[in-house]
Amino acid sequence: MERENLYKMEKFDTLIIGGGAAGLMAAVKAAESGQNVAIAEKNHSLGEKILISGKGRCNFTNAEPDLNAFIAKYGENGKFLYSAFSKLSPHDTVGFFRRIGVESVEERGKRIFPASGGAQKVLDALIMQCKKFNVKIMRSTPVKALKVKNSKIQCVITESDEYSADKYIIATGGKSYPKTGSTGDGYLFAQQAGHTITKLFPALVPVRTKETWVKLASGCNLRNIRINVILDGKKIDERFGEMEFTNFGVSGPIVMDLSSHVPDWLEGDKELQFSLDLKPTLSHEILTERIKRDIQKFWDKRRFFGLVRSLVPSQMMNLILELSDIPEDKPVEYISDEEISELADLLKDIRMNINGLWSFNNAVVTRGGVSLKEIDPATMKSKICDNLYFAGEILDLNGPSGGFNLQICWSTGYVAGSRS
Ligand SMILES: Cc1cc2nc3c(=O)[nH]c(=O)nc-3n(C[C@H](O)[C@H](O)[C@H](O)COP(=O)(O)OP(=O)(O)OC[C@H]3O[C@@H](n4cnc5c(N)ncnc54)[C@H](O)[C@@H]3O)c2cc1C
Repeated sequence: MERENLYKMEKFDTLIIGGGAAGLMAAVKAAESGQNVAIAEKNHSLGEKILISGKGRCNFTNAEPDLNAFIAKYGENGKFLYSAFSKLSPHDTVGFFRRIGVESVEERGKRIFPASGGAQKVLDALIMQCKKFNVKIMRSTPVKALKVKNSKIQCVITESDEYSADKYIIATGGKSYPKTGSTGDGYLFAQQAGHTITKLFPALVPVRTKETWVKLASGCNLRNIRINVILDGKKIDERFGEMEFTNFGVSGPIVMDLSSHVPDWLEGDKELQFSLDLKPTLSHEILTERIKRDIQKFWDKRRFFGLVRSLVPSQMMNLILELSDIPEDKPVEYISDEEISELADLLKDIRMNINGLWSFNNAVVTRGGVSLKEIDPATMKSKICDNLYFAGEILDLNGPSGGFNLQICWSTGYVAGSRS
């Protein structure tokens, strides 16, 4: 009782924990409809993650016109989003941002970016809208706990104060890139309120390999290559596009995309391999012929390393020389047909054993979160706690890169902020 007297208890219609993409969208929507809204944000600044999204350009949604195809990007859990997307679709999102001063452009892969000003423009527009509708923004205000009684939030507790509201929205993000403020606090709050958190994994994250030779090509960015995914000796998936070698494994768009499935594939001690095909448009036979032609062209003048240089990017040379049994200084005229065939095999199948993912520190998003079974998809309202709502990455939803993850935040934030 004594402790309570020290607190100033402020009361709002809606109190939002977390001032990221989802929290800001919820705040704008709630405040525009006349509610008295506050955001409690633990950082001094809002939207740190928005600012680094899309390498500072903020790929804020995707122009995929087919709603079913869009939703399919989120896998099984995607169907939870039908209702939210019916209230704020990706197309509506572009309209929403235009209304608050952010024009957009469409780029490769239907990715939508602000036409100018990058991520800062998106963040500034949201903050401006909050200010216009008198949202109380409480910076450097980490929420420590929720006070829950009879399946109802009584108030949120910060270091020095308590705040109460008719409605609380948890929009604290996931666990990925914790330096932006998303340290997973919201999962604890959700648990305090009686919610289940599904298993959490880093997603859209570089992948680790058992092989240490990957570091020989570290930093090498490859375009137009294919990765075949091999599980216990059987091909189960493939991706075509861009990848990169790192010191500990592989990264880049197609690897990040595959990373979301890696925990499932590795479950039960299975053997998971990525097979890199550097020449996916050439059959083994055509590639062999091409290598032979190259050898003929430089007959007498070249050694094996020179041949390799003509076949792969320079940053890949050391790795190919390491993996091939042919001595690097062997004159090309002495390379046998069998060796040429083995080289073609290697260029079309560089095998890597995958043994895990990088940590949450390097993950673009978190896979897993507050169980969707416990949330009403039409309102984002908890089915367990009377006055509690959720929005954004804290939910058990994640998508591939291309603007799909921020779209979760915009749509669920919009719905959570709406009157219901
Ligand atoms: C490097 C990078 C690039 C990305 N690029 C893209 C992209 O181009 N397109 C795309 O669609 N997605 C992208 N994403 C993913 C996307 O940015 C996130 O999914 C999205 O920003 C999550 O928003 P959120 O509001 O749910 O959570 P967050 O942005 O994590 O916001 C949560 C907020 O809550 C605050 N908070 C946490 N705990 C507390 C507490 N106890 N009290 C008070 N406040 C608290 C945090 O400080 C933070 O400000 C990228 C992510 C990363 C890391």
